[in-house]
Amino acid sequence: MQVVTPASVVILNVHGIGEPSREFEPNEQATWVTVEQFEQVIDAVVGRENVRITFDDGNASDVEIALPRLLERGLRAEFFPLAGRLGEPGRVDRDGVRELLRAGMSIGSHGWAHRDWRRLQAGHAEEEIIEAHRVLREISGHPVTAVAIPFGSYDRHVLRRLRSAQVQRVYTSDGGRARPGAWLQPRNSLHHDMDADWIRKVLHGSPSLPARARMFAARTVKRFRG
Ligand SMILES: [Zn+2]
Repeated sequence: MQVVTPASVVILNVHGIGEPSREFEPNEQATWVTVEQFEQVIDAVVGRENVRITFDDGNASDVEIALPRLLERGLRAEFFPLAGRLGEPGRVDRDGVRELLRAGMSIGSHGWAHRDWRRLQAGHAEEEIIEAHRVLREISGHPVTAVAIPFGSYDRHVLRRLRSAQVQRVYTSDGGRARPGAWLQPRNSLHHDMDADWIRKVLHGSPSLPARARMFAARTVKRFRG
C-alpha cells in the first residue's frame, strides 16, 4: 500500500481533562475539557490520517485520563510537559513521562515554568529552552526536537532562539490547518465550551476564504514582529 502524505493536517491541542488536582492559573479553566468532551474528540479522530493530537502543560490527566483512552483507540500523540514543573501536584512526574514514551507517545518541550516567551526576564531564556531541553533529554534519552510555545506567544526573537536551539518543529496555537513538513505548525486548542459542531468544523470543515486570509495575516504579523 502506498503511503500518501496529506497536503494539510489538523493538529489538535489538549490542555487538561476532568477535575484538576491543583489550583487553576489565570484564564486556564477555559482550556480544560470534561472526560466526555475528550472522548468525543478522540472518537472523531480515529481513522483520520490527517489529524494529530498534542498535549501541553504536563497535567496529570495526560497519563491518568488521556493515555489509556488513546491506547484503547490505537492513537498516538505528542506530549509537551513543563520541564520545571514535573512532579508538582496535579502534574506529570518523571515516571509519567517515561510511561508515555514506553506507550509509544512522543515528548517535546513546553518550556520550564509556563512563562510568556515574548516577555522573558534576563536569565529565564536559558532556563526555558536550554535547561528544559537538558532535563527532558535526560529523562527520555533523546534530544528535544519539537517545542510547543507557551500561550502560543511568539515573535521573531522567540523563533530565532528556537532555531538556534536546533528545534526541528515548533507548534503554535494559531488555529487552522498545518503543512505536514513545515517548521512552524498551527494548532487548534480544545476548550471548555466546545461541542460536536466545533469538532466537526475543525476536523472536516475548511474555513471560509476570508477566515483563512485573516489567519494567514495574523500568523505573518507574529512571525516578524519583535
Ligand atoms: Zn501551556
